[in-house]
Amino acid sequence: MHAAVLTAPGQLRSVQLPEPDCGPQDVLVRMRGLGLCGTDLAVYSGARIPPTGSWLMGHEGVGEIVAVGSQVHDRAVGDQVAIEPNYCCGRCRACRAELTSSCQNRVVVGLNHPGLLAEYVSVPGRFTWPAPPSIGIEDLVCVEPLTVARAAIRRGSAASTSRCLVVGAGSQGLLMVLALRAMGARVYVQEPHDGRAELALALGARAAAELGDAEIDVLFETSGVPQALGAGLEHLAAGGTAVLVGISSRPVDLTTAALVYRQHTLLGSLIYDHPVDFPSTIRALARDEIRPGVVLQARYPFREAAEAFASVAEVPGKAWISFDD
Ligand SMILES: [Zn+2]
Ligand SMILES: [Zn+2]
Repeated sequence: MHAAVLTAPGQLRSVQLPEPDCGPQDVLVRMRGLGLCGTDLAVYSGARIPPTGSWLMGHEGVGEIVAVGSQVHDRAVGDQVAIEPNYCCGRCRACRAELTSSCQNRVVVGLNHPGLLAEYVSVPGRFTWPAPPSIGIEDLVCVEPLTVARAAIRRGSAASTSRCLVVGAGSQGLLMVLALRAMGARVYVQEPHDGRAELALALGARAAAELGDAEIDVLFETSGVPQALGAGLEHLAAGGTAVLVGISSRPVDLTTAALVYRQHTLLGSLIYDHPVDFPSTIRALARDEIRPGVVLQARYPFREAAEAFASVAEVPGKAWISFDD
């Protein structure tokens, strides 16, 4: 089968690999679509070092099941599935506390485990989620990052009556805007890049400048820019929650005085928890509550995977790879 592997920063090579084995608890998936995000860009550019010198990237994958392991009884050949690319162990303390996102033994597809940029991939059956055929490929390919957004909303307890501020309108911020709008919340967006800000407004957000002196109930920080958090917190009402999704290793300039007097809650939100969040997102898509495919701005055929990765930093919205073309 065809696969594309990263051989050096910025160097993606097309290779032939043997089709993966389908173990007793696995399913074999014929890939149809792969979304790209900042994490992929970090690996592609060399900012994150992959485990081996020749590395299969990609984690936001969807496809069709073409073979089922002998011990898998609840998935079937022909199922259209989204892949949950974080395999938790189910045994550690975090898993037992139903916080599988913090699993100590988490297998992260595309980062510490080979990724999905191949014609066929083998996946543990319980980490594939069947989706009805009524959900189009472009919406399905956004399920993984949309689930990150919806898990943040769940953890931050945002409601339909909430006023929310989304900081950053990269693809994660755009999906956050969409998910909040889909539940009826009022959403403001803070984004310095004009193209991205325009996309967020087109998806139903209002510019943060319109807030004036009004306060918000929940802040979603998706940019990972340390200074942006402090600016966002100035809009947060007393007793409000700031949900942190963007990741940075640089310190944030905050005083405990500001937090204590305003009684703000800072809440880190990492990916999503198994097995609740993925099927919840797929049900929302099946009910046609949300059409996340609108954030896709660039589609590349599999044979142009290198161009797709090179575009991630420039394209506002999401780029994706289609294996059907
Ligand atoms: Zn991603
Ligand atoms: Zn675990």
